[in-house]
Amino acid sequence: MELKDLIRDVRDFPKKGIIFKDITTLLKNPKGLNNSVEELCNYAKNKGITKVAGIESRGFILGGIIAEKLNAGFIPIRKPGKLPSEKISESYLLEYGSDSIEIHKDAIQPGDKVLLHDDLLATGGTMEAACKLIEKLGGEVVQISFLIELDFLNGRDKLKSYDVRSIIQYGSE
Ligand code: AMP
Repeated sequence: MELKDLIRDVRDFPKKGIIFKDITTLLKNPKGLNNSVEELCNYAKNKGITKVAGIESRGFILGGIIAEKLNAGFIPIRKPGKLPSEKISESYLLEYGSDSIEIHKDAIQPGDKVLLHDDLLATGGTMEAACKLIEKLGGEVVQISFLIELDFLNGRDKLKSYDVRSIIQYGSE
């Protein structure tokens, strides 16, 4: 069984023209979940990572497991208005309009070595904004990992100065 076989394509979700990569079909499969976590942790081990930051909401699932396995802390990076305490935010452009993400000001201590995780790399805008949040707080982005990478959208171009890893790639839609 390949991990890719556990990803479900859902056409026209959340809007027409988008092929949504549904990871729930991988997460519910014990071997799929275990193999994914193991591969992502193999990339990240022995790098002195002190914090894993996951991006809302699907980045929380594997991000939390990876953090525990690496003996690191977990940090949520959230959509606007969700974090209760003092925070900073960063905006990024979407195909139409813009969006933003937030992090608690005390989530990172200067010198923290951070692994950023999300479920999927598309254009890279979300992850680029997440890197800025970590760096504004004095953290070092040591690695960025994704379960899925849509190669044909060239999201890596926005993340050139980082060590970017993914375990399932798509060369075309
Ligand atoms: P981007 O900022 O363009 O790299 O988009 C990445 C974010 O949007 C991630 O948090 C993904 O969960 C979500 N995303 C973008 N495209 C898809 C897709 N085709 N299927 C599932 N999630 C997607």
